[in-house]
Amino acid sequence: MLKLNEVGWLEKEKPLCGPMDALVRPLAVSPCTSDIHTVWEGAIGERTDMILGHEAVGEVVETGNLVKDFKKGDRVIIPAITPDWEKVESQMGFHQHAGGMLNGWKFSNVKDGVFGELFHVNQADGNMALLPPNVSVEDAVMLSDMVPTGFHGADNAHVSYGETVAVIGIGPVGLMAVAGANLRGAARIFAVGSRQICQDVAKLYGATDTVNYKDGDIVRHILDANDKKPVDKVIIAGGNLETFEQALKIVRPAGVISNVNYLGTGDFIRISRIDWGVGMGHIAITGGLMPGGRKNMEYLSNLLKYGKLDVSHLLTHRYKGFDFIETGIFLMKDKPSDLIKPVITI
Ligand code: NAD
Ligand code: ZN
Repeated sequence: MLKLNEVGWLEKEKPLCGPMDALVRPLAVSPCTSDIHTVWEGAIGERTDMILGHEAVGEVVETGNLVKDFKKGDRVIIPAITPDWEKVESQMGFHQHAGGMLNGWKFSNVKDGVFGELFHVNQADGNMALLPPNVSVEDAVMLSDMVPTGFHGADNAHVSYGETVAVIGIGPVGLMAVAGANLRGAARIFAVGSRQICQDVAKLYGATDTVNYKDGDIVRHILDANDKKPVDKVIIAGGNLETFEQALKIVRPAGVISNVNYLGTGDFIRISRIDWGVGMGHIAITGGLMPGGRKNMEYLSNLLKYGKLDVSHLLTHRYKGFDFIETGIFLMKDKPSDLIKPVITI
């Protein structure tokens, strides 16, 4: 039996395909930092013999008899978040939590993930999108999670034209937050990260300034560089609980701190009374799981289809063959200096 802190290979029964569901064979997958939090930090609690992975592009192998828009052989992008669309939380606008906190996140959380020879997609018509013919499976797999999560950070921050934004943490998610802030019209983007490759790629995605958090206090650095003025918005895509204290020191009154980082350890986030405007500063602190579902996937894949976003800069390590999934997981765990994101085609 495989428990927390362990990864390996398992034999499992073929998943059952319900009437609204699909079974999909992966064509390209990518391990996520969230898999690492789950296995090595136990961040979502005990899990045993659960198949990891939630980033995949695949080929439909079977569909339930109520599935209307997809058929066997279709090549599809599957978002990491596959909610139950009929639940009241979905109707209330927070489908990510349909059926309970984070319950829209099914793969490698409440059911087996995508690192299997076959995986199950609930509510296939609502939770898959056709792969545009001119988009590669490697690029498209970045649409499962990295693009929507980074963009969610920028969306929740309500970044708009001409604003100054700081993105703290520029792994693949933070880099897509930079790209999202840039597409939404930010004028100046501080990208905070230590690895040279991430800083270089951040510039390609629209960062105007890079800040190394290992070279001293990022608060002082950003305020100094910004004429002592706070930034409009802060997006957090890396760091730890202390990062919120820093973010509060660099955001303006009525600004937004938008977190998409998965807080794997620690118990409480400290909010400085003074920095939070003694409770009256109109500074919103928000944190969100990426949006799931088909329509968002279709819109985001349009950005690749029409050449508005090039995700290939994220793909530093490419492998072919199922066995390399394990290599990819350990790369994400160990984060060598030349890594942004591995992709495995099958
Ligand atoms: P990553 O580990 O590749 O990137 C995080 C970056 O933050 C790293 O480059 C690291 O050097 C940097 N960092 C660490 N400490 C820092 C500090 N004190 N200040 C600034 N930067 C610091 O991870 P990723 O794959 O880019 O994912 C980022 C986070 O988003 C992870 O926690 C991941 O689990 C989470 N995530 C959330 C969602 C969601 O839906 N909200 C989806 C996917 C991933
Ligand atoms: Zn993920």
